[in-house]
Amino acid sequence: MIFTVAIDGPAAAGKGTISKAVAAHFGFAYLDTGLLYRAVGAKVLDGADPVDAARALSPDDLNADVLRTHAVAQAASEVAVIADVRAALLVFQRDFARRSGGAVLDGRDIGTVICPDAEAKIFVTASAACRADRRFKELKARGNDISADQVLADVIARDKRDAERAEAPMIAAADAVTLDTSDLTIEQAIAKAVALVDAKRT
Ligand code: C5P
Repeated sequence: MIFTVAIDGPAAAGKGTISKAVAAHFGFAYLDTGLLYRAVGAKVLDGADPVDAARALSPDDLNADVLRTHAVAQAASEVAVIADVRAALLVFQRDFARRSGGAVLDGRDIGTVICPDAEAKIFVTASAACRADRRFKELKARGNDISADQVLADVIARDKRDAERAEAPMIAAADAVTLDTSDLTIEQAIAKAVALVDAKRT
């Protein structure tokens, strides 16, 4: 059985949590595509060329703890504007999406560019203030030394770069359902996403 769930949206909207829960609910495989860009960003911070780094990426590169830092998130969104970087990461994502047994992919361009034919598409969003607050708490819990104002400024800068880039900008696919999580608990957001996917399976 081939069934792709494309989950897109801005930073810290809840995509990762929702995607993992949807994948677990239906027994699908899960790919956080942001990790691919983060892994390239981390290599660039270490001095690598972004396109070379993207072409040489291996699954082992996706597990490093360093990928969750704030500096790497910014570097990821900078390398993500490069067309050749995106092209180098495309086949891996498409193959993952069409694997047998079902797949959930989350990112920025899954429903528009990577899997325009995905069976279910959700655009997860929330207000910038709400997302920055969630990300601030998450970064603090991981021991990052950063202020709430800095996190809000960076979330806004990253959204702008992701939404305004020429290559595969972050945008809801015309056939995606928007899920605004600003006023939802995690449990409510997951229940809505599961119901949306379930409706596409019948
Ligand atoms: O989702 P996450 O915050 O980990 O993504 C880090 C960065 O990678 C994003 O800000 C975005 O620039 C880039 N990205 C992308 N396309 C995707 C996933 C992530 O451009 N499918």
